[in-house]
Amino acid sequence: MTEPIDSTTKSIPPEWLERLLTTRQNAYAPYSRHAVAALVISQGGKCFCSCNVESAHYKSVCAEAGAISAMVSAGETGIREVWVLGPGPDHCPPCGDCRQRIHEFADEQTRIHLINDAGTVLKSYSVSELLPEAFSGP
Ligand SMILES: [Zn+2]
Repeated sequence: MTEPIDSTTKSIPPEWLERLLTTRQNAYAPYSRHAVAALVISQGGKCFCSCNVESAHYKSVCAEAGAISAMVSAGETGIREVWVLGPGPDHCPPCGDCRQRIHEFADEQTRIHLINDAGTVLKSYSVSELLPEAFSGP
């Protein structure tokens, strides 16, 4: 059973923030110059972190997508939390593709937190707040 998360008091553990800051430094974003890192905590409590990786044909991999792929590759298919650190002081919300991707592995207890470099939670969503009326397949 997942512990409910109170988004009003939730703060990021220092080790997760450090991992996000370090991973964001590795972002490969020569086209957008929009470096992002995302950290996914699986239902099993494991931590998966990724940066965005762009390519010249513009079919880039978002940080959230990389972290979710790593989670699934490790045999987990449930997301407890997502933490997203964008390049600047403003919150960096997941793109439409990533909202759908998060929805695929989330439940209503899943929280998506958007933070700044100090680890301050700027926005926090449930998956239905992030992607209302989500497509759930035919
Ligand atoms: Zn995305």
